[in-house]
Amino acid sequence: MLRFAPSPTGDMHIGNLRVAIFNYIVAKQKRERFIVRIEDTDQARNIEGKDREILEILQLFGLHPDDVYYQSHNLTIHQHMAIKLLEERKAFACFCSPEELEAEREAAKAAKKAYRYSGKCETLSDEEVLANEKPFTIRLKKPESAVIFDDLIKGRQSFAPDDIDSFVIMRADKTPTYNFACALDDMIHDIGLVIRGEDHVSNTPKQIHIRNQLGYDKQIAYAHLPIILNTEGKKMSKRDDASSVKWLLEEGFLPEAVANYLILLGNKTPKEIFTMEEAITWFDLRNISKAAAKFDIDKLRYINREHMKMMDPKELSRAFGFADAAIGEVAKCYLEEGSTIKEIKPKIEAIFSAKPFDNEWGEQMRTLRDALKTAPKFETFDELKSYLMKATGLKGKNFFKPLRLLLTGSEHGPELSHLYPYLKSYLMEIVK
Ligand code: GLU
Repeated sequence: MLRFAPSPTGDMHIGNLRVAIFNYIVAKQKRERFIVRIEDTDQARNIEGKDREILEILQLFGLHPDDVYYQSHNLTIHQHMAIKLLEERKAFACFCSPEELEAEREAAKAAKKAYRYSGKCETLSDEEVLANEKPFTIRLKKPESAVIFDDLIKGRQSFAPDDIDSFVIMRADKTPTYNFACALDDMIHDIGLVIRGEDHVSNTPKQIHIRNQLGYDKQIAYAHLPIILNTEGKKMSKRDDASSVKWLLEEGFLPEAVANYLILLGNKTPKEIFTMEEAITWFDLRNISKAAAKFDIDKLRYINREHMKMMDPKELSRAFGFADAAIGEVAKCYLEEGSTIKEIKPKIEAIFSAKPFDNEWGEQMRTLRDALKTAPKFETFDELKSYLMKATGLKGKNFFKPLRLLLTGSEHGPELSHLYPYLKSYLMEIVK
């Protein structure tokens, strides 16, 4: 089983989407289930409605989950497991206050040392623990030897006990920390492979250690994806507009193209333009580069244009708010002039909006409009052109400029002879 485990704490980032896509693809390849687990145990950081937004985005990208779970629903199991670890003395109650811990952190910082928990509550006797009425967290004792795992992308990873440290698994409010809830749920959901971002590499030994302490002997495989960099070579963050999936969709990038780009990024693929279904036939995590990948919006533009070319015209027309294959074909005629829905949409809207006649071509436009209103229906643009030239006596620039303005609302654009076959059934509407 594979899972995508987003926290409902912010907008979906392209890094999250890439993780979701890869998990989905591998699940399809292995014919295993793909589940979504909303990691909502950090009450303070949850944002109302973000879960639904994430699920909607997944639908839009065709990443249909076989099941959706909310991590908070497993709270009782998380609490029981923490108590079990306490009883087995693999974990201990920690009464250190946030202020005391902060002071320890500050001291480590001043001494230019990596912070480690002092361990002072680990040696408390049962009597001392029972007599203490202060709120407490639960910490898992650090392992006795290094935790080693073989990452499918990054290779062998080894973490010393001190780097894992005796970390908190339950907060004072009796909710689990991310590492604890995640480690348990991956066990409960029988996850076989975890694909997630590189920022989680240092969490992995903690999660493995938790399961080891609970006696879970199934090995979960891990693949940590390198981060995505912006054009300046810095980690893509909220400040980069293109890092937000919502922004990309609002800018008029097609989900098919964004998915294509994210699969291509930092990967060796047999081709450049493909659908998710195709990617399922050849995708291999071993081809993902260890190095961070650089986000290139121009490449995404190119891919978006290619997908618009490939797309079924009727489907494409829907992206522009129409439901007619002819409009999809019109959009394809405009691909030289824009690469996103947002860039091309105004050009299509201009065709159908009232044209201004108060310009240097106004008179000729009126003449052409009147002629068009009474013109017979012609199959090709050439036939229409000959008819209109004869009927109006206009020719050359005096004919083409105003005709283009009348038909498209713009002075420049695709060949009228290319557009005409798709626009001919709308002529009356266009010149109204
Ligand atoms: N909730 C974590 C996140 O959104 C999930 C990490 C994981 O996949 O384990 O970063």
